[in-house]
Order: sequence, then C-alpha cells, then structure tokens
Amino acid sequence: MRHSANTAFMQRDLKVLWHPCTQMKDHEDILPLIPIKCGSGVWLEDFTGKRYLDAISSWWVNLFGHANPRINQAIQAQLTQLEHVILAGFTHEPVVTLSERLIALTPDGLTRCFYADNGSSGIEVAIKMSFHYWLNQGQAQKTKFLVIQDGYHGETLGALAVGDVALYKQIYAPLLMQTITAPSPAGCYAEAGESYFDYAERQAQALEKIVAQHADEVCAVIIEPLVQCAGGMRMHHPHYLSRLRAICDQYQIHLIADEIAVGFGRTGTLFACEQAAISPDFLCLSKGLTGGYLPLSVVLTHDSIYQAFYDDYHKLSAFLHSHSYTGNPLACQAALATLDIFETDNVLENNQKLAAVMCEATKPLHDHPHVSEVRQQGMILAIELCKNKASRESYDWRERRGIAVYRHALEQGALLRPLGNVVYFMPPYVITPAEIEWLATVAYASIDFATRD
Ligand SMILES: *Cc1c(COP(=O)(O)O)cnc(C)c1O
Repeated sequence: MRHSANTAFMQRDLKVLWHPCTQMKDHEDILPLIPIKCGSGVWLEDFTGKRYLDAISSWWVNLFGHANPRINQAIQAQLTQLEHVILAGFTHEPVVTLSERLIALTPDGLTRCFYADNGSSGIEVAIKMSFHYWLNQGQAQKTKFLVIQDGYHGETLGALAVGDVALYKQIYAPLLMQTITAPSPAGCYAEAGESYFDYAERQAQALEKIVAQHADEVCAVIIEPLVQCAGGMRMHHPHYLSRLRAICDQYQIHLIADEIAVGFGRTGTLFACEQAAISPDFLCLSKGLTGGYLPLSVVLTHDSIYQAFYDDYHKLSAFLHSHSYTGNPLACQAALATLDIFETDNVLENNQKLAAVMCEATKPLHDHPHVSEVRQQGMILAIELCKNKASRESYDWRERRGIAVYRHALEQGALLRPLGNVVYFMPPYVITPAEIEWLATVAYASIDFATRD
C-alpha cells in the first residue's frame, strides 16, 4: 500500500474495525487491506485509482456487476415509496411479486416463500421448519440432521452445526448440535480411473446405508447441490442428487437444498437442482438473489409442509421464527430487477459461452507441476494446487500458498481470493471473454510465483 490515500484509510480502519474471516494480525504485514472507493461492472477501484477485477463476485454475491444501472434504478424508485415495513401483519408489493416470480422459476412443487435476511438465517429457518414439521406430525423423535462431508451452510450456530468445514467449525464444536455426517460425493476424491458418475453412485450407496440406520431420528439431509463451495469448490455428479431425492422419499426424510451460492445461474442452469430434475423439500436462496446488492434470503417449501403448520390452535403450532428485516422492500426490488435481467438478457446462454472461454483459457494450468485438478461447473472454475502432482499430496495450509497467490494477483489487479489451496474464478456474469483470458494469465503467473520453492 504505497499510496498515502490508501494508507490513511487503512490506518483509520485498523483502529476501529474487526474484519470477517481474518486473522487481524495478518494486516500488519502479509495481508494488504484495500479501501474501495467505487465499483463499476466487474471492476473495483481504490483511492489511488488502481483497479481490481472482482473475479470472486465479492464473496459470490454479485451477478451483474457493481453499480448496475438497472438494479440501482429499481432500488432508487423503491426508496421514494417505502424503505421497510414489518412483515408480520403487514405486506407490500415487492415481496408478493418476488414470491410469485420465485415460485414460477424454481423446481415444481415449491409453492411457499419464507423470508429471512441473510444466508445463514435462511438455513436456520429450513432446519427449524423441518424439525418442527415432524414434531407437528407427531414425530418428536426426529431431531437429527444428516450432513455431507465438506458442506458449508453459514456460520451461525445452527448453520455451522450442519456444515463440515473444520476451519470454521472445530473451535465451536462444544456449542453445536450433534449431526450425522455422510461421506463426500465430490469427484475430486474418486479413485484413479473412477468417473465422477461412478463415484457419485458409490457414495450414494454409502449414504443410503447411513439413512437406513438413522431414518427414525433424522429430520432432513442438507446439501449444496453440484458444488460445495466454501469447502473447496468440490463438485459432484448430478446423479448423486437424483439418488439422494429417491433415498429421502423412501425413508421419509426431508431434502434441504442449499442453493445460496450455486443458485441463479452459477452452475449453468438457473438452479443446480434442475440438472438432476429434482425438487427439494426446502430450497434456500440468498447471495445472488439480490444481484449482490442487499442482504436477503428466502426458503421455498411445499404446500404439504405449509399445511402441517396451518391450524386454529387445536393441535399444530405455528412457525414463529422472525427477523427484523424480513422481506425488506429495497432488497426485494433489487431481487426483482435481478430477475428482470435474467428474463431479458439471455444470461444462461451467454454464461455458456463465458464458461467455455474459462475452460479454454485455463488449459495451460492443467500441465502446471503444482496443479492437481482443474474442475469446472458452469460459471465456477476451480484450480487445486498441490505440492506433488504425481502423488496429489497437498500443501500444508501453514505454507499459505493461497495467500501468496492472492497477493500476487492483487498486484496485477485481480481479486482472486483462494480457499486454502484452491484458486477459483466465480466472476460476475458481465465479465467479457477478453477479461477472462486476462484473468487466466494473471492466475497462471500468480500460481507459478506462489508455488516456486
Ligand atoms: C455463503 C453461504 C451461506 C451463508 O450465507 P451468509 O449470508 O454468508 O450467512 C450458506 N450456504 C452456502 C452454500 C453459502 O455459500
């Protein structure tokens, strides 16, 4: 941080802020802190005028660029009407229209929208609703959740409990409810020569055994369909989801699909579940829901679940979960403007072209001596670094190769924030083919730099 405009800002910040997902001491030396003055499209600009390509969509939320004129306009118009209103006993146009449109767009059978105001809260809603449904059905013994190895569902205590990323979970383990963990379906764990499909089938069989043993006490299985993002961009074959749906039906447990990161076109289809032609019992959406503008989440569910709470105080009890900013009108308008863009701009078709460019531009990385796998699912491309290509031995995280990649890429003007040893592209959909090619060049150079011994 050479320039004084940035440095002055950084000093003010470090006196008063405590940043997320950060060992603050790293800001003394190895981790720069970059004040952003403005954004436009895929670019962020700091106070010195230096620009950074936001290749990770600001933690996976941004879909159509920063300061998108159409989303800006929608929020501005709503601001003059109504900024917020309590959603209990009251309602408003944006939340009703958004619900109608989400129900029309999501997999069949999802007919009810329950709102919260961030992803983790949406997960809390889904797990409480699932438990409460079974309770209302007279099945009080169903209290457990079946979770998938490497899954991530947020960091509030309930959401953390149903995740399986040690980095976030281990320390808080004494505070968390007990869960049952099924082995990962991700193809990166397959034996040499075993296909993603074959591995998915094998792991579905393993899952079925666990379900058969525990069906009486399990409320639901929770999964990130197709890509387990925070757990290292680990991808599985859609076959696993089809098998999971069938197993859940057979053993009478719910399927919670957490599409908070993969929803809204990330994986190639509007929702990842579409690729397995399944409908979950609960679908959690957030992040891209508002195009990356405002915090909002929604849980969609079936009428049969809704009906299990509908009563006049005789037998069933109502779902009393509440958040102050539930269904905020400004956030709903940002979401509606985002859906408008999907409707008018051939986004999914264009993403196919961009995904092909990402695939092509990163080909040279396949042969890099410190890359063990390059994997892709639509608009997510992940590059796994390794110490030894032949043995697939990975780097100890304490070597901090990922941070070295991050710093080198920042110098070049690209925001690539690796997850441990996994460098990935998850860019806004308004990125151009030329920008993707440039990004791939920066990624190659940064990986090459960071893996030199
Ligand atoms: C980010 C994320 C969450 C949590 O959302 P927050 O808004 O950060 O609380 C949950 N699930 C998945 C799959 C996510 O990627």
